[in-house]
Amino acid sequence: MANFNAKNLKKIGVYTSGGDAPGMNAAIRAVVRTAIYHKLDVVGFNNGYLGMLNSNSLDLDLRSVANIIQKGGTFLKSGRCLEFKEANTRKKAAENIKTLGVDALVCIGGDGSFQGAHLLWEEHQIPVIGVPGTIDNDIFGSDNSIGFDTAVNTALEAIDRIRDTAASHDRLFIVEVMGRNSGFIATSVGLAGGAEDIFIPEIPYDMKTILNHIKQSIERGKKSSILITAEGHKPGRAYDLAESLRKQGNFDAKVCILGHIQRGGAPTAIDRILASRLGHQAVLELLNGQSDLMVGTEANKLITAPLESSAHSKKSVDKELIDLIQVLAL
Ligand code: ADP
Repeated sequence: MANFNAKNLKKIGVYTSGGDAPGMNAAIRAVVRTAIYHKLDVVGFNNGYLGMLNSNSLDLDLRSVANIIQKGGTFLKSGRCLEFKEANTRKKAAENIKTLGVDALVCIGGDGSFQGAHLLWEEHQIPVIGVPGTIDNDIFGSDNSIGFDTAVNTALEAIDRIRDTAASHDRLFIVEVMGRNSGFIATSVGLAGGAEDIFIPEIPYDMKTILNHIKQSIERGKKSSILITAEGHKPGRAYDLAESLRKQGNFDAKVCILGHIQRGGAPTAIDRILASRLGHQAVLELLNGQSDLMVGTEANKLITAPLESSAHSKKSVDKELIDLIQVLAL
């Protein structure tokens, strides 16, 4: 966390970076409207850090963000810009930002994007506030990130449909949801979707235990079951699991990979409200002379945390929810 003199703050820049998430548009809208409410000018950078590098920006006024609160994705577009990890690239971006007369930034993205934002402050003293926007919900320091609730609900809708067919044919299904390094989506979807078990990157699994678990549930009279797996490092993990179940337990499991449909769609009310609160608070922090921190929530209250903490600490999945899935799967 750090301070700067906000007296000369006239123009702020906003950008979305990393994986897109439903609700990012609502966050941009909140940033733009709050800034204009407080008599600041706003520009948007297109395609995340790439837009800064190419001076690809546009002036945003009140009407630029009309009719976007309900739309998934991000109208500023997001992107990955691997060169931004190099100091020379960041120097060029910082020069462009200063040439455009942009005094401070709001970064909407995940922990990778926050690293880039932190370095812009540390190396070039460009004030910046982060707004957590990622469906994975894996940002340390905030209970929730924009897009998570929508992604969980999208996956849940698909799982409810799969449950209908699983029940009609007495089938075992493995549904793969997003989450490379984190099992937040899988855990929430597993609990809300009444899954038999979940497989998440944070917890190693033992095939013998899983097989016993399925056998016992059949003995107790269960005719169909749904297992949820996070994709892990290699999407398609559900096929490997199905193969192991077949080879080691003679179970015929059907696989459904939900993939990118979890990123799209209209944000839920929860995500729109979260995005509006966080986008608004990010601008207030800048007006208050704060930099190098992110805004987030804890027990539904707004909080701030150092931008860097998201890079150095890993948020853990709630063990209570994991245990509950096991109990309720009886
Ligand atoms: P997310 O923000 O969703 O975690 P990424 O990890 O892909 O997504 O990061 C998005 C972008 O942030 C990267 O393409 C890069 O431009 C920038 N970035 C990521 N890590 C760093 C880093 N260590 N230093 C500087 N910039 C970074």
